[in-house]
Amino acid sequence: RETKLQIVLTCSSTWLNLHLIVLMVLCVFLQGMAFSLEERLQLGIHGLLPPCFINQDVQLLRVTLENIIKMDLPLRKESKQYVFLMGLQDRNEKLFYRVLLSDVERFMPIIYTPTVGLACQQYGLIFRKPRGLFITIHDRGHIASVLQNWPEKDIRAVCVTDGERILGLGDLGCYGMGIPVGKLALYTACGGMPPQQCLPVMLDVGTDNETLLKDPLYIGLRHKRVRGQAYDDLLDEFMKAVSDRYGMDCLIQFEDFANVNAFRLLTKYRNQYCTFNDDIQGTAAVAVAGLLAALRITKSKMCDHTIVFQGAGEAAMGIAELITMAMEKEGLAKDECLKKIWMVDSKGLIVKGRDHLTHEKERFAHDHPHMKKLEDVIQELKPTAIIGVAAVAGAFSEQIIRDMASFNERPIIFALSNPTSKAECTAEQCYTLTEGRGIFASGSPFDPVTLPDGRMFYPGQGNNAYIFPGVGLGITACAIQHVTEEIFLTAAEALAHLVTEKDLAEGRLYPPLSSIRDVSLKLAVKIMEYAYEHNLATLRPEPSDKQAHIHSLCYSTDYDEFVVDSYRWPEDSMVVQSCKL
Ligand code: NAD
Repeated sequence: RETKLQIVLTCSSTWLNLHLIVLMVLCVFLQGMAFSLEERLQLGIHGLLPPCFINQDVQLLRVTLENIIKMDLPLRKESKQYVFLMGLQDRNEKLFYRVLLSDVERFMPIIYTPTVGLACQQYGLIFRKPRGLFITIHDRGHIASVLQNWPEKDIRAVCVTDGERILGLGDLGCYGMGIPVGKLALYTACGGMPPQQCLPVMLDVGTDNETLLKDPLYIGLRHKRVRGQAYDDLLDEFMKAVSDRYGMDCLIQFEDFANVNAFRLLTKYRNQYCTFNDDIQGTAAVAVAGLLAALRITKSKMCDHTIVFQGAGEAAMGIAELITMAMEKEGLAKDECLKKIWMVDSKGLIVKGRDHLTHEKERFAHDHPHMKKLEDVIQELKPTAIIGVAAVAGAFSEQIIRDMASFNERPIIFALSNPTSKAECTAEQCYTLTEGRGIFASGSPFDPVTLPDGRMFYPGQGNNAYIFPGVGLGITACAIQHVTEEIFLTAAEALAHLVTEKDLAEGRLYPPLSSIRDVSLKLAVKIMEYAYEHNLATLRPEPSDKQAHIHSLCYSTDYDEFVVDSYRWPEDSMVVQSCKL
């Protein structure tokens, strides 16, 4: 029976790695999370299962609940679609990616935002089979040996989370593993990076989510988050262990870390390892790409604009930083660039001398009286662009949109907060209240809008998936070891350049999502060109045809030819006999 199982697994994926198959059999088909720590260590599967040890009673509970799901009770339609696609990923990886690519617009929202958020919330219930590596705070001192348990040796991209700020959903602890898994699936689907070169990692340091701590199905450590020196030591050891095992050019993408850690970890590691934070830098690139495309409509330069942010968190800081870089590139002095950017957080306008100013916020604090209400800020500053990233639904009120339309011929209004229910305004509100003059982009998708005069607009969706798969592909394709901010500006410029005049005329600030594979390849080529020009690439010799080089690295969803004889199993082995049967 085991041998037949091996054949099925081998045929259905390109992972012709018997070690891995044996591990999968051990993890999934035997006791699963019921293995004790001693057994996991002896079997070499420590880290391949979530850290929680559960007994058969809890497994029974999960199975029973699953049966309830089948009877259509608690799980929403979207979660079922997620479970279905994840099951397909386990059974037939190539078909899974073929399905994603067949209709990216339809399937991406299932494995990525917004459905992945729902899936993370219900991870305990829908959890079938571990995917990725689980490293806990208790593994300190041994992370290198946990990494040894992962059977693939040629890892090019790691996506890591500690689960503290999953999308806009807060601390989901170990349930946050759905995010790195989904992001890396997009590395393959959108960027063409082979899935076996991608490693999702959960750094489980506990959770402060009381509901999860009481949830019998919770798969993570059941204690409060460990913070301070122990947390920092874990991160330091993890970064070093990954780079030691997979090389200094192994890309480590940070996802959904809380504000308090996201900025300082980025600052700490950016010049030491090959790393970036997608919530800060990926968001920045996609938003700046939208602004650069908007400039083609307004026929202006970035430094001609005054921009007000609603929100001053990871997204706002990342976007503001990249905007100042774009302005500096146009020739404006750094201090002057900063003066053109204003931020409003939960305490109101960020001004010099105000309370609750972090180091990041200080940079955008100006000499100005404090103002509490966004409406008043807009009236006072008369910005040319407003960007919503505070997850405050409806923050761009009718008055604000009308004011923007009165100050500007073509007001730029980006409602980037996710999910759709958190958007600062809808596409329809923007186009209607500005009589079609508003230049709009959103974080979540909106349907096209038709105005009473018959004009139709297609709102742009500033989806990070336009950026991180192409950036990841470019970085790994030429073995960049440090991901500079200029790489994200390069990506933003390349993305804006791919928007056609026809797209702009229809209101689109981004290329159609259906062309995302092509977009990622083009971004990757630009990043390679930039990297060789600025001495960031370590791959030698430099490929003369960079596009062909990237193509040669890309994953194909075509099945490999499967010839049993080529594995040189003995003619009388069960494998060959089973195939003949
Ligand atoms: P964050 O938690 O780091 O920042 C949120 C900020 O909003 C904080 O500065 C907070 O002070 C501020 N805020 C809270 N309440 C406010 C209020 N009433 N008025 C003004 N400001 C208020 O979160 P983040 O990572 O910056 O994400 C923010 C939003 O942006 C989320 O909805 C997220 O989904 C969205 N986002 C969109 C994209 C995209 O479109 N590509 C990418 C990243 C994040």
